[in-house]
Parts: sequence; C-alpha cells; structure tokens
Amino acid sequence: MIVDRQGRRFRNLRVSLTAACNYACTYCVPNGKRLVAAQDELSAQALARGVAYLIEAAGIERLRITGGEPLVSPRLDGFLAAIAKLPLDDISLTTNGQLLARKLPALHAAGIRRLNVSLDTLDPLAFRRIARGGDLASVLAGMQRASEQGMRIKVNMVPMRGQNLDQVLPLLDYCLERGFELRFIELMRMGHLASDRNAFLQQFVGLDQVLGLIGTEHAFEQVDVPVDATALRYQIPGKGHFGVIANESVPFCRGCSRLRLSSTGWLHGCLSSSNRHFVGDLLEKPRHQALPALQRLLVKALADKQDVAFSGGVTVMKVIGG
Ligand code: SAM
Repeated sequence: MIVDRQGRRFRNLRVSLTAACNYACTYCVPNGKRLVAAQDELSAQALARGVAYLIEAAGIERLRITGGEPLVSPRLDGFLAAIAKLPLDDISLTTNGQLLARKLPALHAAGIRRLNVSLDTLDPLAFRRIARGGDLASVLAGMQRASEQGMRIKVNMVPMRGQNLDQVLPLLDYCLERGFELRFIELMRMGHLASDRNAFLQQFVGLDQVLGLIGTEHAFEQVDVPVDATALRYQIPGKGHFGVIANESVPFCRGCSRLRLSSTGWLHGCLSSSNRHFVGDLLEKPRHQALPALQRLLVKALADKQDVAFSGGVTVMKVIGG
C-alpha cells in the first residue's frame, strides 16, 4: 500500500469513460463548444484493466464512473460488463441524467445502486442557459425512474451568484420530498475559472451563504462523516439530509483519497495539480509487468496532492472526470 507522510492513500478511483459531453456547462466549458471524445481514448477493456490493476497496486476499494458524460460513451456497456467481476466495495456513477432513463437497465444489471445526478436548477430557461444543452424534463424523469427502481440518488448543484442562487431552496425541497440528497458543490477554480479570477469571484458562493439561505426555511444540524469524505453533511430533522462540498471554505485535501484515470490513460493524483502520469501503455501489458511500473507512478501521483487546500487547476473538469 502506498501511503504519504500525512497518512493519505488512494482508496477511491474515478474513471472518466469519455471526455465527450452532451452539455457545455458555463463553469466547465469556457467557449460553449461541446467537448467531443478524444481521438486516443482507451478501449473499455483497457480502462477496466486499469481499474483491476489499480485495485492491486493502490488498494482501490470504491469506483465512480464519470466523464465527460459517461452515458454518451459507446464504451459504457463493455466497461460495465468488464468491471462487474472486480472486487470493489462500491460502484457508482456521476451523470447529468439526460440519458438516464434509457441507460437504467444496463446500470442496474452492473450492480450500480448509487447515482450522482448533476442538476443546477429546476427552471427550464436557467437550465439551458447554464448547461447549454439538454432538456430538464428528461433529467427529472430519469431521476424519478431511477428512484422507483431502487437507486439512491444524490443531486449535485453548483450554486452561483447571478445564475441559480434562487434555486437553493426549491431544489432542496424538491430533493427532500423525493428522498434524494442534495449536494451543494462550491464553484471550483478549474479550467478557465482558474485563470479568470474575476469570473470566479463574481459567481462564487460559499458554505456560509448556502447555510444561511437554508436556515431561513429549515432547522438543521451537522452530522459526522467518514474521515476521507469530501462533503460536510447536515440533517434536517424529520425531512432528510443535504451536503456541502466546501472545497474553498473548508478544504478537505488532508483527507483526500481520490485518484483519477482519464479516458486517454492519464492518472491524476490531484485536481489542483497540472501533473499527470501516462499509464495507457501499461494497461496493454500483462499484470506482472504493469504492476511494478504502475506503483512507481502512483508514488508520484500521491505526491502531487496538495498538503492543505485546493488552489485551482488549469485542467478542465470534463477532461479528467469530475
Ligand atoms: N457529466 C457528468 C455530470 O454532469 O455529472 C459527470 C462529469 S461533471 C464534470 C462532474 C461534476 O463536476 C458535475 O457535478 C459538475 O457540476 C462539476 N463541475 C464541473 N466543473 C466544476 C467547477 N468549476 N466547479 C464545481 N463543480 C464543477
């Protein structure tokens, strides 16, 4: 097991199935152009082999499938089939929900029971303004169907000044009524927002403001979370829970256990570092050759982690998987 001097190790792996996405969210994609799949994306089998090797080399226990938008990837079914036999404690998926209803049978068959659905507003016009694609009704129908089929749903919302602050309470009530857990994600200085400080500061909404808004309608109390959790979690007695991923206000780098594998075969140990380590070639090698080389790269990837706080990263989230 590779452990750093802060006691951190890689336990959670996020695999980006593709850089392609059917949205072009304002905070993720600078110019509104849809991101397409990279020419050199790995096959479903190579990515699944990556997961298998990383279970052994790094001690990965939990997998989250992400993107880009994982549900648009033609590799989804092959990847799901290939990882189904791997010894993982948990497999979950992050999606914008647009194609969720259609893909539910495949997700269910692969044993996925937990979904994170990104949804920034319940207002159809604001939805199209922020996501620059997609259709709100399809997302809501997909979540409803998934919930009826026993999937546990967390909804990810990025609250932004001038964009969707009026949606904090409606979205929270919508989730509480349906047994979904809403997660507010503080806007991150990623991609174009890392270099455009003004655009970031104009839109950024922090933990205190979110809690202040919620406090106008609900009484809540903070509850305990695992040591490597990214979200602060709160209970609204008798109604449900919500969380805040407060990467700016309450940085969680000290407990971070995340490792990311991109669709083109790059390992990222930290969202806030521009370092990355190519493993695409290793994933074509047999296990006994790949594992020692992989371990050497994992030491470097772990050293890339910030000591204390996220300080921004030039990489676009959709390229390395949110
Ligand atoms: N397409 C999938 C989705 O929409 O959930 C998975 C990929 S998306 C990049 C994963 C998450 O990253 C989404 O919840 C999105 O809101 C979040 N995200 C992207 N850029 C962000 C930023 N600059 N700050 C905060 N969250 C961001």
